[in-house]
Amino acid sequence: MITEVLRYNEENESALRKASQIIRDGGLVGIPTETVYGLGASAFDARACLEIFKAKGRPADNPLIVHISKPSEAEQIAHTSSLYYKLAERFMPGPLTIIMPKRDIIPSEVTAGLDSVAVRCPVHRVARRIIELSGVPIAAPSANKSGRPSPTTAQHVFNDMNGEIPLIIDAGACEVGVESTVIKITENEIILLRPGAITVEMLSEICENVSVSSAVTEELKAGEVALSPGMKYKHYAPSASLYLVADDIDFISLVRERALSENCAIMCYDEEINDLCSITLLPIGKRDDIEEQTRRLFDALRRADEIGASTIYAHLPSKNGKSLALYNRMIRASAHKIIGGKNG
Ligand code: AMP
Ligand code: MG
Repeated sequence: MITEVLRYNEENESALRKASQIIRDGGLVGIPTETVYGLGASAFDARACLEIFKAKGRPADNPLIVHISKPSEAEQIAHTSSLYYKLAERFMPGPLTIIMPKRDIIPSEVTAGLDSVAVRCPVHRVARRIIELSGVPIAAPSANKSGRPSPTTAQHVFNDMNGEIPLIIDAGACEVGVESTVIKITENEIILLRPGAITVEMLSEICENVSVSSAVTEELKAGEVALSPGMKYKHYAPSASLYLVADDIDFISLVRERALSENCAIMCYDEEINDLCSITLLPIGKRDDIEEQTRRLFDALRRADEIGASTIYAHLPSKNGKSLALYNRMIRASAHKIIGGKNG
């Protein structure tokens, strides 16, 4: 199959019409969203959704997120609650996914046999328009090969999916750069399953009772059942070994020393570029600019592989506020390899 890449053009919707026609016909399309690029198919088409699992090499027990073009469309696919509408009013459209009991119209292939469905209404105008034009909710996981860093540009999608899907819509780099915040809700309780741009602090303004699943910051223990099946898989992993350096270690001295004997790439802050100038650097933004670091994370991991680094060193992010999403992705990409901190 030839994979076509069409650039989104504000004045001409023909690319988006083509994308929605493919989706209505049971095909897959690479779709830009504000978080990462998605691999979309009709959420009502079990066969098309199985093709998503095949194209990604995704384990069959890892359910897909269903994307809608307005919050009220959740009624069709899920049993909503007043808490859903409170959250929707504040955070939708936007990078928040809400897990609720599913309705029968959603095939069990989408939810990997679970009786709940994950619902998200993206704020990206191209994603929303493709859903509208398709006339169906769109099931879409991130458009990477399973286990690889998520794609934040159309080129990343092409690198992973060339020959497997007919079309990718290119709308430039994603603004957030990590996947949506995923929460499970009941009438009066929120459990955070995956951190993203909508933070615990923001959710706590809507609901008093917000807890964070231990899988967000810790490794799953043997035999422990993941609330969100995706949490148990190796994720975001570059081919290189990634080490995270805690802030009780002198980062500059450590990486200068390691670079003498290792083929390594360094994910550094912009302020450190001058101090590390003879080493292969992947700057990810200013020390205090968590949003920029988040936006650039997956591209940096992919570039480390492209340049053939065998080791990557990066700063261990904090677990506070917006940095929790960065922390979660980086500890999983590194398989919890931390230098310093409580690990000594
Ligand atoms: P991705 O599609 O790559 O953004 O991953 C979607 C994430 O949402 C994965 O971690 C899934 O395990 C999780 N997810 C989707 N649907 C459900 C559900 N019904 N219950 C729990 N987690 C879900
Ligand atoms: Mg993913």
